[in-house]
Amino acid sequence: MDLGLRGRVAVVCGASKGIGLAVAEALAAEGVLLALCARGKDELKAKAASIEQRFGVEAIHCALDVRDDGELRAFVQWAAAHFGRLDIAVPNAGGPPAKGFLETTTAEWDSAFAANLRSVVAVAQAAIPHMRRDRFGRIVAITSYTAKQPSPGLVISNALRPGVAGLLRSLSNEFACDGITANAVGPGYVDSERTREVLRGQAAMRGVSYDEAVAAAMTDTPLGRMATLEEVAATVAWLCSRQAASTTGQTILVDGGSYRGL
Ligand code: NAD
Repeated sequence: MDLGLRGRVAVVCGASKGIGLAVAEALAAEGVLLALCARGKDELKAKAASIEQRFGVEAIHCALDVRDDGELRAFVQWAAAHFGRLDIAVPNAGGPPAKGFLETTTAEWDSAFAANLRSVVAVAQAAIPHMRRDRFGRIVAITSYTAKQPSPGLVISNALRPGVAGLLRSLSNEFACDGITANAVGPGYVDSERTREVLRGQAAMRGVSYDEAVAAAMTDTPLGRMATLEEVAATVAWLCSRQAASTTGQTILVDGGSYRGL
């Protein structure tokens, strides 16, 4: 399916690895021009160069922390000024720490709020005026399965992700008339380097093998395996497509069927 995205411009946050990088690659494969940000300068630069070489699209980049509201807004403006337009925005960052509620600190709550909720506000506020001008926009935030179903040990995520869903639903109501959609993609377990690290830690803690830790994690996943990075990224790319114009205000889970609600 041609997603109709060739020549469009996207900002993708947290794009040096994991889901953000996979999204950048999926959009580049569709001919989308990219502005990428993440914290680590060298890794981001290398990944942007690799994308340019493999997909033949321009990928500008800027190292920043999405918790810095001013820098994040300036990054979005810089991208729009550089390309002369802005069609797609993918707010994304690393997730909050996994902890029991009583072990969480105020600093961790503040940091997660800034990285996982306020950054979506900043990206959307900076991007929407550009999208509105061209009467086309796609905002796709990377959130989590916890947007719909709280997960044990992920209390900060459980509290913040539904807030992002509420924000995006509000934006969908306000800006649908401008051709702008606002959705989230919520992964369950994704087979990424970060997840493997977490599962290796759990295996060591329980004194079991890595495969046993994966099997335990998959107990509640009917599909029986983790989603791939490419499957998550393909869902994001489709939400950005011209064909997805009527899908807005949704959190689309990529969770192998783990969520049991309707
Ligand atoms: P990751 O750690 O592999 O990659 C995170 C990316 O974001 C990196 O490029 C990193 O440099 C960047 N980043 C992190 N904090 C940043 C900050 N403050 N400012 C700028 N850049 C920052 O993470 P991932 O697995 O790709 O996860 C992305 C999101 O998806 C997270 O919110 C995570 O909680 C969520 N998620 C992931 C999974 C999974 O299994 N991987 C499952 C559910 C939800």
